[in-house]
Amino acid sequence: MTANHGQTGGHPDMLPGLRAAVEDSRAKAAATRTRKAAEAEPATVDPVARVLVDVPLAHLDRPFDYTVPAKMAETAMPGARVKVRFAGQDVDGYVVERAETSEHTGRLTPLRRVVSGEPVLAPEIAALTAGVAERYAGSRADVLRLAVPPRHATIEKQPSVPSEPLVADPAAAGKAWAAHEHAAAFLTHLAAGGSPRAVWNPPPGAGWQTLVAHAAALTVAGGRGVLVCVPDKRDVERVSAALDAVLGAGRHVALTADSGPAERYRQFLMVSRGAAHVVVGTRSAAFAPVHNLGLVVIWDDGDDLHAEPRAPYPHSREVLLLRAEQQGTAALVGGFARTCEADYLLRTGWARPLVTSRDHVRAQVATAVVPGEDRAIGTRIPSAVRDLVRDALQQGPVLVQTPRQGYVASLACERCRTPARCRECAGPLLLAGPTAPPHCRWCGHEALGWACPECGHRGLRAPVLGDARTAEELGRMFASTTIRTSSGDHVRASVPDRPEIVVATPGAEPAAEGGYAGVVILDTWLTLARTDLRTDEEALRRWLGAAGLVRAGGRVIAVGDPAHPALQALVRWDPAGFATRENDQRLATHLPPAVRLATVTGEPGAVDDALTLLAPPAAAEVLGPVAVSDDPTSEEVRLVVRVPRALGASLSTALGELQRVRSARKLDAVRIQVDPPSL
Ligand SMILES: [Zn+2]
Ligand SMILES: [Zn+2]
Repeated sequence: MTANHGQTGGHPDMLPGLRAAVEDSRAKAAATRTRKAAEAEPATVDPVARVLVDVPLAHLDRPFDYTVPAKMAETAMPGARVKVRFAGQDVDGYVVERAETSEHTGRLTPLRRVVSGEPVLAPEIAALTAGVAERYAGSRADVLRLAVPPRHATIEKQPSVPSEPLVADPAAAGKAWAAHEHAAAFLTHLAAGGSPRAVWNPPPGAGWQTLVAHAAALTVAGGRGVLVCVPDKRDVERVSAALDAVLGAGRHVALTADSGPAERYRQFLMVSRGAAHVVVGTRSAAFAPVHNLGLVVIWDDGDDLHAEPRAPYPHSREVLLLRAEQQGTAALVGGFARTCEADYLLRTGWARPLVTSRDHVRAQVATAVVPGEDRAIGTRIPSAVRDLVRDALQQGPVLVQTPRQGYVASLACERCRTPARCRECAGPLLLAGPTAPPHCRWCGHEALGWACPECGHRGLRAPVLGDARTAEELGRMFASTTIRTSSGDHVRASVPDRPEIVVATPGAEPAAEGGYAGVVILDTWLTLARTDLRTDEEALRRWLGAAGLVRAGGRVIAVGDPAHPALQALVRWDPAGFATRENDQRLATHLPPAVRLATVTGEPGAVDDALTLLAPPAAAEVLGPVAVSDDPTSEEVRLVVRVPRALGASLSTALGELQRVRSARKLDAVRIQVDPPSL
């Protein structure tokens, strides 16, 4: 060791007190060396830990091997959170596996410490995150952040009390599902531990949440777990109430993003510790580590809320379908509307339809479409609608769906209909209230003394009316009736069974106890005027979402062009036929889901680099790059890559490889989105 090692204790010039101090510190140093040596002593069994490190760099996106020190042998188990040394820094990670040996040839670094021995990353969820990262050409660290909530130490110390065992009532389940053809076979199969897969479109007023609860009960009674994903918090509350009613109180957990970190972690632990077997939640619940999962359910899979806005932008339906494949579970893809993706599941034979006959639906509800008389202010509620509202109010509440929130969403020249634009920035002008002057939606500039640039006329009209304006109009028409609104930041969960009018924007419709006596859908032309790939599909989904809240024996009326295919599908209550025709067209025109499509978005230079580096399958079409928006301050451009659906996995692999090369070379970031929800 050191040169003066042999002189210890024998230094002639050292004072006795100093000598004692030196010897003491040497003894301490020796003790520390011994302790460190013991700490570095690897575990005797499986001394290697494979760790997923929280580093969002695509080219480092794989497990790394570390030595497990003996004292961490019992805690650094698969699923545990650890700290490791990575590229000169302490970073978080999860142990995914313990092993006897490593393929790494050099010396392995020991784990720094075990943050918590609580196994929060179950093996099947680790596998799921790998599959999702691959499918969406994203980083696994990003997917893990969606899958596992942040730790809350206080909550982790508390035990999770298991919920009571449950006894299901197959007769009650059969009765609830009676209107659906083939439901008996589906439920029997489910209760027996099988894995039937169905695309499910219930009739209006069916109380879909109750049907979900019955399917859940049969699955749990058979000893398996259930996972239900719904678009928003209000849907979670609805399903939660139904689960309480069918399973008994406190036999499930609800996972939503806004329940706060402590509560969210407590609920997560209930699931990961196997204390609760039924989970309902919004999109991140798709990763919930339900033990012995037997059934996955997604409701209203066409809703944009199922598309994760954070990278790598996974969609809950795709996450759940991947889980159903990986874990061999049953699946229910449900909604009043049927998406083209759900239609695709039927075409390929992956799932069977679970529907009621159209005769049954027609016996339940009468639906009509009437043309709009005029789009100008004050006369857009045709007399047929007025009559329906008046009659329905004798029976109960009436729902009026209007496409946009706010007072008057945008303005146009009264004479020539040229859209009114801001003089400062060319943004659209809107009216916020009855007394405020029109102002710009982009810069807020007040447009006093506006004159039409095309014809010089000074009058403005509102082709697009918001819910507040609609409520005002209805208030004049039905002066003695209470009128409520539900939209934006003021969404109502439910309304009582009283003769009131409820004006709501799509997705914000409150549930009515016992269902609505009448449902009115206004301004359908406006929903159909969007220029998106899914315009018609989305329009029908929104209308069926409102119409589905009607009670048995109730009436639905929509204002619009009776010849439009989407409105015809509404009148005939035919989401299946609509999805089939829509998908036929997409097949003919090479649009998703008949093809797999991905976008690469970023600054022009970065997208050019990406285009050079991308090695897509030979059959791929590359479109663009084109400017993303007409906003002059944005330089972003977008590339669209399209392949036949069968080559979807190869496209994902090519995009993943692009991200790895880009990351390794430290090139500017691009945003890659596989199957973007809109284009
Ligand atoms: Zn004009
Ligand atoms: Zn402006």
